[in-house]
Amino acid sequence: MKFATKAIHAGVHPDESTGAIMTPIYQTSTYVQDGVGNHKGYEYSRTLNPTRHALEKNIAAIENGNFGACFGSGLAAIDCIIKMLNPGDEIISTNDLYGGSYRLFNTIFAKYGLIFHFVDMQNLTEVEQRVNENTKLIWVETPTNPMMNIIDIKAMATIAKKAKALLCVDNTFATPYLQNPLDLGADFVMHSVTKYLGGHSDVVMGALVCNDHTLATEMYRIQNSSGAVTAPMDSFLVLRGIKTLHLRMQRHCENGEKIAHFLSSHPRVDKVYWPGFETHPNHHIAKAQMSGFGGMISFTLKNNQLQDALNLVKNVTLFALAESLGGVESLIGHPATMTHASIPKEIREKSGVVDSLIRLSVGIEDVDDLIFDLKKALDS
Ligand SMILES: *Cc1c(COP(=O)(O)O)cnc(C)c1O
Repeated sequence: MKFATKAIHAGVHPDESTGAIMTPIYQTSTYVQDGVGNHKGYEYSRTLNPTRHALEKNIAAIENGNFGACFGSGLAAIDCIIKMLNPGDEIISTNDLYGGSYRLFNTIFAKYGLIFHFVDMQNLTEVEQRVNENTKLIWVETPTNPMMNIIDIKAMATIAKKAKALLCVDNTFATPYLQNPLDLGADFVMHSVTKYLGGHSDVVMGALVCNDHTLATEMYRIQNSSGAVTAPMDSFLVLRGIKTLHLRMQRHCENGEKIAHFLSSHPRVDKVYWPGFETHPNHHIAKAQMSGFGGMISFTLKNNQLQDALNLVKNVTLFALAESLGGVESLIGHPATMTHASIPKEIREKSGVVDSLIRLSVGIEDVDDLIFDLKKALDS
């Protein structure tokens, strides 16, 4: 089945008792049993809930995986993967990781004896040099936030396989519409469903998908034991959101491309970070592993003045100043004072997060209006 058909149909069936075409919101904690041990597949909603179950099957299908699990947030999904490891195990990850993942690794799990290494994953030798017999997980995020760096998933899969380590890819930015890490050799794909999969800025949720039965058993064991599950209502909203994921992503990509080109031709704009440009250092990898370049764009201003960036984010009217991304509405953010404010200036500047860096999550509004809004703010 092709993507659009799976997005709409996978995991969902008309309700048997009423014919309702939409998956009901099973707002229930427990399920009556006919006799001890004699139930209909559902015993308690932390373990399994029919609305969540439908969503888990749907997300697994659109990621070309066999098993899906949904969590209360993206970070709860990451938390599940790390709990598969043991004290002394080493994890290699990228040095421009999503800030929340970095905080989870460094301030929660490091104290349980897990060892995290953050390297420039665009440089394969740097990754290979970090591998040793304790390496148990390679954690990839691509494209990265906010610099839009591209990491070669296939190359990481080769390194992980040789090291007998798991490879997990945070696929939040690309979405399964543009990139399928399991097909490229990853063991797990992770999503902040909060972003494009939900797509309407109304839910916080995470997901994991894998193919291997043994890994899936471990994933469900931790999901049930740690209990960071998502709610039936939220599962319903995301099932609805995913039905238009392909249409939304097409528009995010179209609008993103036009805005990236507009920005790169504007005299006040310095650099534009968008993997669709042939001048992007890893454009060839993006082209090989993604089917489009998405709607996330970062850019800097000429002279790199903090005040200019702050004025710009204040002067736009359609782009809303907010954290998060992936919704139908366009957002604008200033990483240096928002998402990356807790990182020391010298460190964030080394990875490119300079004072005038601005990040856009390009929505699916009419692109002429979006460009008009940016132009007005840039020209003022
Ligand atoms: C938002 C985000 C997360 C964390 O997800 P939450 O749903 O906010 O917990 C992880 N990775 C990336 C790339 C994100 O953008």
